[in-house]
Parts: sequence; C-alpha cells; structure tokens
Amino acid sequence: MMQQYHALKREAADCLLFYRMGDFFELFFDDAKQAAQILDIALTSRGDGVPMCGVPVHSAEGYLARLIRAGCRVAIAEQVETPDEAKQRARREGLPSSKVLVRREIIRFVTAGTLTEEALLEPRRANVLAAVVELRGACGLAACDVSTGRMELEECEPAQLGAALARLGPSELVCPEDWADAPLDAIPRPRSDFGSDAGEARLKAVHGVATLDAWGQFSRAMLAAAGGLIAYLDHAGRGKLPLLLPPVARSNAGILAMDEATRASLEITQAQNGGRAGSLLAEVDRCVTGAGARLLAEDLSAPLTDLVEITRRLDLVAEVHRDPLLRADMRALLRAIPDLSRALGRIVAGRGSPRDLGQVRDGLAEARRLHDLLAARRDRPALLEALLPHLTGHGALTDLLDRALVPAPPTERSQGGFIAEGYDAALDELRALSGNARRAIAALEARYKADTGIAALKIRHNGVLGYFIEVPAARADALMAPDSGFSHRQTMAGAVRFNSLHLHEEAARIAEAGGHALAAEEAHFEDLTRAVIDRREAIAHTAAALARLDVAASQAERAAEGGWSRPEMSDDTALAITGGRHPVVEAALAKAGERFVANDCTLFPQDRLWLVGGPNMGGKSTFLRQNALIVLLAQAGGFVPAQAARIGLVDRLFSRVGAADNLARGRSTFMVEMVETAAILAQAGERSFVILDEVGRGTSTYDGLALAWAVAEAIHEVNRSRCLFATHYHEMARLAETCPALSLHHVRAREWKGELVLLHELAEGAADRSYGLAVARLAGVPPPVVARAKAVLDKLEKGRAETGGLAAGLGDLPLFAAAAQAAEEQCDVLRDELRGLDVDALTPREALDLLYRLKREA
Ligand code: ADP
Repeated sequence: MMQQYHALKREAADCLLFYRMGDFFELFFDDAKQAAQILDIALTSRGDGVPMCGVPVHSAEGYLARLIRAGCRVAIAEQVETPDEAKQRARREGLPSSKVLVRREIIRFVTAGTLTEEALLEPRRANVLAAVVELRGACGLAACDVSTGRMELEECEPAQLGAALARLGPSELVCPEDWADAPLDAIPRPRSDFGSDAGEARLKAVHGVATLDAWGQFSRAMLAAAGGLIAYLDHAGRGKLPLLLPPVARSNAGILAMDEATRASLEITQAQNGGRAGSLLAEVDRCVTGAGARLLAEDLSAPLTDLVEITRRLDLVAEVHRDPLLRADMRALLRAIPDLSRALGRIVAGRGSPRDLGQVRDGLAEARRLHDLLAARRDRPALLEALLPHLTGHGALTDLLDRALVPAPPTERSQGGFIAEGYDAALDELRALSGNARRAIAALEARYKADTGIAALKIRHNGVLGYFIEVPAARADALMAPDSGFSHRQTMAGAVRFNSLHLHEEAARIAEAGGHALAAEEAHFEDLTRAVIDRREAIAHTAAALARLDVAASQAERAAEGGWSRPEMSDDTALAITGGRHPVVEAALAKAGERFVANDCTLFPQDRLWLVGGPNMGGKSTFLRQNALIVLLAQAGGFVPAQAARIGLVDRLFSRVGAADNLARGRSTFMVEMVETAAILAQAGERSFVILDEVGRGTSTYDGLALAWAVAEAIHEVNRSRCLFATHYHEMARLAETCPALSLHHVRAREWKGELVLLHELAEGAADRSYGLAVARLAGVPPPVVARAKAVLDKLEKGRAETGGLAAGLGDLPLFAAAAQAAEEQCDVLRDELRGLDVDALTPREALDLLYRLKREA
C-alpha cells in the first residue's frame, strides 16, 4: 500500500494527497502533520510510526474548504475499483487475493482557482483562475471563473501587469516555470503549456471551431496565456475540463485605469484590513443574487470610459429608479432565482447533481417570468432591449426538465428518486413493482401474525440481512420447527430472526426492480445533463442578463435609499460635484447617530488643482476620496452620493496616501510613497483625476515640503490632471501665487471655549492656522504636555517670523516650467554628445575619462 501511496504522492507533487481508504480520506507523513494542524484534528501514527490523519469522506467538503482557504492544494486519490473487482483481477493475473490492492488514481486536484462546489465557493465573490506569460515584451493574461465558465484574455505591458492582476484579484495564478519576473505566488507550470500555437489549438478544440475570429482578435501573448490556463485546468481536472465559454478579448482601452495602490487606498472591493466589510462594494451592494453581487464587484473594479456604454447602464438604472413598484417586482423575482451560472458550471464539469438540474429549470423559468414583466413596459431603455431576448428561448429545455424532475430534486443522485412520476412509463412500472412487493410484504406480515398467533412478529429490513422476520426470543420456538416454513437466520439478545420463501421472493423482486429503477434514473440523468450542456452558451447568456438586471436594480435601490442622483456624464475635463458625500464614512457616522456634512468640488481647466489644508481629522482624506469614489461609481454606470454631479470622463484614476498611514509594508514606506508618486507623474494626463493625501509626509519636514511642492507644481504644469492635494504644509499656499490653475481650500474648524470644533466643511482660501495642539488635546494628550508643546511652538513661530519661515526665499525660485526646461536642456546637450559618440573608436582609457567628465557635469 505504501508503494502505491508513494507513487500517487509523486504525482501529487506539492499538493496534499487525500488517499481514499474505505469511508475515509487518509493523509500520511508531512501532509498529515500539515493538515492536522490546519484542520485541528488528531494526528495519529500507523503501527510503523508513519504519522497519519484522516477525514470522513461524507464530510470531506468542509475540510477541503478549510485547507483551500489556508492556501493548500489537494489531490484526491480515489479507489477506482471495488474490492470484488480487485479480487477478480487478482484471480485473472494469478495472484493470491491477499496480495492485491484496490487500484487508486488521482481523479482531481482541488485548488483555489478550480472550485465548482457550492460549499467551497463564496456566493457573492467571483473565483478567478489566471494565467500569465510574457511573450516578446508583452504580457498575455488569461482569466476564467470556472464556476461560471467566463473567460477573458488580455494583453498589457509588463509594467501594467500588477494593475491588471489587482483588478482581477485571482485566487490562483499560474505562469511558466522559467520566467524570472513572474508575479509572486504564481504557480510554476511547464513552459510547453504556454505556446501560442498550442493555446490557439486548445481553444479551438474546446469549442469545436475552426477559427476564433468570431470572438475577436487575440494576440499571440493572449493565446499563449490561454494555452497555459487550459493546460492547467486539464491537469487539475485530470482531463475533464470545466465549463468554458468563448473567450472575450478585453481591451483596456475602454476601462478606467487604476493601479494597485489606488485600488487599495480607495478600498473598492476590499477594506484596508482585507475584508469586504467597510469597502465601497459592501456599502453599495443591494443585489439579491450571488451572480449580481459578483457582477457589481466587477463593475466597480473596472469602471468604463466609454460614454455610450456608461449612458446605457445609467438609462437602465434610471428606469428602475423611477419606478419603485417595478423595482420591487424585479427584485422579488430575482431573489427567487438560484445561482444559474454556478449550477451550470458544476453540470458541465461533470459534478452536477439532480439539484443542479432543478436549479437550471427554476432559474430559466424565473427568467421567463422576469422577461414578461419587463417586456410589458413601453419605452424600454436600450440596454434592457438588448437583455430581454436572453431571458427567453429555453422553452423546450424547461418543458423537458419540468416533466422529468421532481419539484425539489436531491443533491445526491445515487439514491434515485429525482425523476418525476409520469415521465417514463417503464420507470413508473418498476416503481409500481417494488411498491407492490412492499405491499405484498406488509400483507405477508399480517398473515404470519395471524398464522403464528404472535402479535409482536415483525418484518424488518437492514443493510446486512435485507428483509427478515423477527419475533421475541420467548416465542421463537414455534418458528424453529423444521416444517414451519421458516428458516433461522440470526439470534439476538431478545429476538430471533427468520426468513421464508415468500419473503425471499418478494425481497428479490424489490431489489431487482429497485436496481433497474436506479439504472433508469441514472440514464435519464445523463440525458438531461446532456440536454443542458447542449444549451450551455444560451443558458450562460441568460445568467449574465439576470446578473446585469440585478445590478441595475441594486444601483437603483441604493440610490433611492440614500437620495443619490444620476450623474451627468460629458466628454470634457470638468468635474462639478454638488453636495457630495462619502458613502462608507456616511454609513459609519449614521450608525453612531451623526450626520455627514456634504461638500462641493468644482474642477475645470482654469481651476483644476485644489490644495486642501486644515487640521488633522478635519475631513481632508474623506473629501478627497469621496470625489474619487463618485467618479468611479458614475463610470461604473451607477448613481452617485451627491445632489448633482457633472463628470467629464476620467481615463485614469490615481489615489495616493502619504506613507505614515501605510505602515504595513515591507519596503521603506517613504520609498513606496515615492515609487507610487513617480508612477503618477509618469502616467497621469489631462483626462486623469488624481488625489494626493499628504504626500511627502513620510520624510523630514524639509524634504517633505520640498517634494510635495515639486510634485504639485509638476502636476499643475506637466500632467495638467484634475487633482485634489491635501497637505498640512501651510507654506504650500504660496504655490497659488505662481500656479494660475491652482486654488486654495481648507476644511473648517473653530475653537470654541478652548475646545476644537471640527466642522468638516470645505471653504475657500488657505487654512488660517494649524490646530495641531488643539487636536492633540482632543485626542487626550495630557494637559501638561500640550502646555509644554504650546511653549515650544511659540518659540518656533517667533523664530520663523524672524527668518521668514520654512518657505523663506521660495519666491526667488525660477518657475517650475523654467527649471524643468533648464534640466531638459542639459539633458539635450548630453543626449547630443552621446549620439555623436563612436563607442568602438574609444580606447578604454578614453571611455573612462569620458565617464568621469559626464559624472562631473551631471
Ligand atoms: P483628515 O484627513 O483631515 O485627517 P479624515 O478625512 O480622516 O480627516 O476625517 C476624520 C474623521 O472626521 C472621519 O473619520 C469622520 O468621522 C469625520 N468626517 C470626515 N469628513 C466628514 C464629513 N464631511 N462630515 C462629517 N464627518 C466627517
């Protein structure tokens, strides 16, 4: 057995091996130690000292879920023959039967990215498996959710890969084993899996098509990634592929670009602590189906930049928003819809149950009802018009499933009982036969009671004996007589068990009919499964349409709840938000019984950079983020938490938080802050929207001020993006003197009877003073410390007044543009010189001299 185990373990490689033994999956050696610890179950050892632990097969799913969540992958080794079959094999091979072992094979790898089981998946979260590969300077990315079959391919520059992965949030990632720059946590797979020709061939084979043209243009890198993805699925399913829908080429052209840092700081789908609670998604999600919630998460992760598409979504939300009755009806219908796409995913993956078939039936029937509700409306928005046809057209399939299945089919199919009466006359007859036999047995019991005069006589059934006659031990003698017609089977403590010829016959009839009935149901199950699989694409479209409707209803519901408004989208670079609010902060305040103060934000080309000052805790961060979130919500196609919003489409959104707030990172936090800031300066353009929260805080005061100053200037002069810049450096107010499109704002505060009152209200102009000490007092810093700080401050401020302050002399600096130009001119000189250089003609000595000179001049 250990030999067999080790062979399987070699195949399982770094996966935990679940080795089936009877009713248990057993783990051995290090696998056992690891699993026992994660699952908190007993670690025992075999006679020979090998560590082992086991989980019962019937409850294996729960254990699997915990192992997967802990980051493990599991290989399932099943028995692929019965002990009887093994014995027969031994006989054929001439081996003594004690020498044979039931054959076992790894039938599946269970990994985070390849799950389809309901119990292992979170209903409201997509489960994404991704494959990446670098091919001639471009990154190919293939992503799919095997629980629903969605697959998308994209190509991006290597520098953008992090952002693309952050958007997808894969739960498992594979890449070629020999790739030096592979993303962290990626699982290495053979390089040969990632060939672009092989990828194309695999895609064609999966979908049975001769060309992929109908689905869009796919680059070599995309196809290579697709190849890697499908090869991995093939490996994990041991040759059985899950549901894969035709691939969609994702073009990032139509998507609001956000990098990883921006996503994290805006807490879009995850709060800083990694959970969903406290995120924007959690705050806006009013979806009533898991599929809707998954689509909403995707919408918020990838807002659009296409005016037409955004307007289509907004029109639909507006329609559902306008009519509360329609909204209520839609949501009631949607709520009754099972997770159609995941049921379909399981069916196609060969893990479907009768219940999954029932879910497809019910889902399609509900979709039809929703269709009728919506089709009855006049003046339908374009998106609705496009979705409607997908909600119907399954008549034949639903009829079939309706007739074939019982109302609530079981998850277990081996027991039968899921095919409805009247669907198959032969099956009904088999059932009637065994029903008749059961009745015959009941009649037999009555007759034996009368014949023997033993009122306590019973005919019973168990797994070992089958049917038997049981009488109390005291009365058993009568049946023991050789001519009684009864044969003795078993003597228990208080009872004796018998058989009889009649009983034996009836029992055989039940068993035979039952066996035939099971076989008939099994055959029907296969047929029904095939019928569903034949229509998998149409069903997937229906599921997608339902999810889109759920999202629209959710957006409308949320808007109605919070008094949100429809944003007016335009193709310019304005941003005018009246009475904007931060949905998450507002909700948190509401719980504490406090009111959120709404604020305006108006940026346009002549006034596109706002410096926001004011005390700590005054509401600067909140203000910055609420405006970014409003843009994001609008471009995702939803209403926004504001009285009114006019939004010129944003192509890239950047959000940065000064390092001090961001401690839990490996690199020096200031380094991180600068790397992220550099990315903005390199990428932001006139159509971008940038929020910078206390950038420069991660270093000394002078460095920090100098950098914040220069960054603000660069965004003003070079990037020319719309920008909100929060800072506590008063000195920066002087930027307004030289930057015409920059204006000064602050969050208001007041001191009242020695107490600081934060008004959270935005006002024009520079903050008049710092309230640091007042905030310290508010925070409970002991009065003597605050008093001492006050004394130190007075001294410092006196010194500052005398020397002209931290920013003294900044007025003499050349303007940013001039400075930048001077630097640029120097570069030009250098560039010219380098271009004119004939490197081959230099002696090593001359080359070294040249380097020294260049360094001196640099
Ligand atoms: P800052 O960035 O200026 O330090 P924050 O934006 O972090 O301040 O806000 C601090 C706290 O003030 C928030 O957690 C919230 O409780 C409250 N707050 C912020 N903005 C508002 C607002 N507009 N209305 C009401 N309370 C607010």
